[in-house]
Amino acid sequence: MAEHPRKGASSTDAVHAGADAHRPHHTLTPSIAQTATFTFEDTADLEAYMRGEDRDAEREEYGRYGNPTVREVERRVAALEGTDDAVAFATGMAAVTTSILALTKSGDHVVLFRDCYRRTRQFVSQTLARFGVRHTLVGPAALDEMEAAIVPETRLCIGESPTNPYLYCTDLSALSRIAKSKGRVRTLVDSTFATPVNLRPREHGIDLVVHSATKYLSGHNDVLGGFVAGPAHLVSLVRELRSVLGANLDPHAAFLIGRGLKTLAVRVEKQNATALAVARMLEAHPSVDRVYYPMLESHPVSFVVKGGRAAAGRLIDACQLATIAPSLGGVETLIEQPALMSYFELSDQELAQVGIDPALIRLSVGIEEAQDVIADLDAALGALGSG
Ligand SMILES: *Cc1c(COP(=O)(O)O)cnc(C)c1O
Repeated sequence: MAEHPRKGASSTDAVHAGADAHRPHHTLTPSIAQTATFTFEDTADLEAYMRGEDRDAEREEYGRYGNPTVREVERRVAALEGTDDAVAFATGMAAVTTSILALTKSGDHVVLFRDCYRRTRQFVSQTLARFGVRHTLVGPAALDEMEAAIVPETRLCIGESPTNPYLYCTDLSALSRIAKSKGRVRTLVDSTFATPVNLRPREHGIDLVVHSATKYLSGHNDVLGGFVAGPAHLVSLVRELRSVLGANLDPHAAFLIGRGLKTLAVRVEKQNATALAVARMLEAHPSVDRVYYPMLESHPVSFVVKGGRAAAGRLIDACQLATIAPSLGGVETLIEQPALMSYFELSDQELAQVGIDPALIRLSVGIEEAQDVIADLDAALGALGSG
């Protein structure tokens, strides 16, 4: 695709990249290849395929090894991230776990950002530990801490930027420079919150980019999915392990993600603008203690209300437009209190240890009119002041 003036992923690519050149029946949109397996003409055809002499290079053998509907969205995500290739998964967590497993073995060590998706931290600290892979947790903004954590056995640095829920951003160029200076240390960044519209980790030298497509990539809160994007040799390692572990993206879900992807740039640009307006309004509001909003114009906004845990609950309950739900990145504005949703089992003391304020609220801005999102919050904050 031609150079475009915007820095992030091209909206033209979001609509068109990766499409099959010849669609059956000349349909404009992709058909859903809802099949578990694929057929061969005759024994000679199968033999040619097995010898790797198949004329159709993109031919699949069996559904766990690949599917054309899935392949199309994989190519599109690779184009959006500016990588050689991408591989799709049933969920974001399947993308995270399969790629980490593909890049580590017993005896290795990994460095992980303390502020990251909670299940990623759980996987590394519990599951991976059972297979003899050690880890060190470091602060997301503390690259000196990360550098110090790297030992001769370190093979992977796992980061997230912006992080969930405080939206800390990391200097990814510095992260990849440090990792590369240490030899065989690879970098993997969960870029779910940024989206390729706002940030493309590959341009900063990051090896593998991971997405929960459940969020912005699909964008409609109606499907689960995940992607890993990167250089061909690494993506093929991850793809090979996917065909063993089997957490494949279903073709119907791939169709929905492909459909959602078409409006990625349009949605995210709108969400960026609204989130900035919301952050400014919150910052000026007397009932708000602190606002967390990264400089890069990303879309979730986190903030701490005055009055503690109960006040945060009252504010959320008073919202009419923003709906209480986990997840983020869809067209609907969602609101949640991490202390209640993700960290329910922790006491206030334990919350303090992991750095989660009980009055913290995470708002995922949808594509409604900015003035309506702001009016909703303003009314709820007003009720808080008088309550
Ligand atoms: C949601 C999320 C995940 C997990 O993705 P699923 O699709 O829910 O499995 C991983 N990382 C981040 C940053 C997320 O927000």
